[in-house]
Amino acid sequence: MRYRSTGGKAPLTSLRGAVLRGLAPDGGLYMPAEIARHSPEELEDFRGLPFTEVCFRVVRPFAGVELPEDVLWQIVSESINFPVKLVSLSPALHVLELFHGPTLAFKDFGARFMARLLGYFVRGETKQLTVLVATSGDTGSAVAHGFLGVPGIRVVILYPSKRISEAQEKQFTTLGENITALEVAGSFDDCQRLVKQAFADEELNKRAFLTSANSINIGRLLPQMFYHVAAYRQLPVASVPLIVSVPSGNFGNLTAGIFAKRIGLPVARFIASTNANDVVPQYLLSGEFRARPGIATISNAMDVGNPNNFPRLLDLCRNRLEYVQKEIWGHGANDEETLAAMKMVHERYNYIADPHTAVGILGWEAYKREHPEPLQGLVLATAHPAKFADIVQRAIGSAPPLPERLAACLKRAKLSRPFSSSYTDFKQFLLSH
Ligand SMILES: *Cc1c(COP(=O)(O)O)cnc(C)c1O
Repeated sequence: MRYRSTGGKAPLTSLRGAVLRGLAPDGGLYMPAEIARHSPEELEDFRGLPFTEVCFRVVRPFAGVELPEDVLWQIVSESINFPVKLVSLSPALHVLELFHGPTLAFKDFGARFMARLLGYFVRGETKQLTVLVATSGDTGSAVAHGFLGVPGIRVVILYPSKRISEAQEKQFTTLGENITALEVAGSFDDCQRLVKQAFADEELNKRAFLTSANSINIGRLLPQMFYHVAAYRQLPVASVPLIVSVPSGNFGNLTAGIFAKRIGLPVARFIASTNANDVVPQYLLSGEFRARPGIATISNAMDVGNPNNFPRLLDLCRNRLEYVQKEIWGHGANDEETLAAMKMVHERYNYIADPHTAVGILGWEAYKREHPEPLQGLVLATAHPAKFADIVQRAIGSAPPLPERLAACLKRAKLSRPFSSSYTDFKQFLLSH
């Protein structure tokens, strides 16, 4: 499989080239040059096959001949070693729990897969590879755990000081080994800017071997198709259209959903469910994409004012507003509504939703109000509620039980380095360590 840039001005490259570079040389994002559709019969077969086999069949065309089948099989089976659970709150509303991996959030899918893919691609390299990642919460821990101890690779994580929860922070700042965390005095957008600037810096890239693990990396996006397929396998067969509500920040998750639709999954429409950072819902209404600084909210993993996967969404919809609108409907919720939704879900369904999942539920409810026809809703549950225990406590009056894994990590000491938001300092750091 060849990969092209959304910018249209970069040469085609291999999967290895796309994964190692992250961002294409023309500043665009890598996309598979073609997407092969599975027939309805093949999709039907997916229901009866083991999940690892299904993931393998889904991703194989995107790897092509570049990865021997046994290597790809090993990457898939080692990275997706935890379940995807479908919980039906009502006959027409289902929640897909994507948080049963090691860091209790859906980013484990992308990060674990990409770490193993990169590990394979850099074997035999002499220079150490540095993975740069800016995180607004959950990417950092998923990437850190994904890469922990992978030989030949070090990870540098940038995160906005005091804008993420203690549980999120502790999950990636306590590991040591090949993982370094920089606590940046600034916002997530500052962190993202530093990473982007580093990749655009030719001099730096001559001296250091850099790649990205943000959701711009195609290696993270491909495995995110897996759980959209998992939902299809587990959902009761229904004759009414399926609407998938995706709590969104950088829009990697939703982009992967559209990939899954392009390979054949029957999804009628996606809902871009955001918090107050509603740049995409606003775009869907007005046709104008206006990036702006991120606003801090209680669903902080989605506090993104300039979603970095947006060019891919446009590209998948042939860069035409009317196609984007056909594919995606948008909804932005504020914090007050999010807390109220968490309370409602707990009371009505006896289910504890984390604030991001609650934003997804609000998107679905809003969609239903405007579309009274019979529909089936699927909300992606992106994080375990225990990761946001204080907010859950505020919403429903009690804290969710703390999973063993999280309790152990909260006890460890934070090892991060306080850091400025200046690019000069960042470059200096990368060259001197
Ligand atoms: C990252 C994240 C999101 C947003 O996903 P995108 O792919 O960036 O849109 C939503 N919820 C949680 C818990 C996250 O960690």
